[in-house]
Amino acid sequence: MPYIIAEPCINVKDRGCVDVCPVDCIYEGPDQLYIHPDECIDCGACEPECPVTAIFPEEDTPDQWKSYIAKNKEFFEGGVEREVAKGRATH
Ligand code: SF4
Ligand code: SF4
Repeated sequence: MPYIIAEPCINVKDRGCVDVCPVDCIYEGPDQLYIHPDECIDCGACEPECPVTAIFPEEDTPDQWKSYIAKNKEFFEGGVEREVAKGRATH
């Protein structure tokens, strides 16, 4: 079960999670970041990096954000090329 990103990331998008992901499976969308469900290796490295607690193992997603499980998956459907998020700005 992959990790997913839920509502607290919306409009925050500080990309702190991106730097620690060993497989670069976190992608940037217009509103929030998304984790690719087939590329995530469930390492959990990203979860403590998020300043707003937006990242959860899929099965531990709080009830009010369960729709974000599908939202993360759907972001990658339809053959649309997605852009891997760039790491946090260092300047
Ligand atoms: S759990 Fe690991 S592999 Fe999955 S998105 Fe987070 S850092 Fe990347
Ligand atoms: S660390 Fe949290 S708030 Fe920042 S981009 Fe990642 S999921 Fe979004």
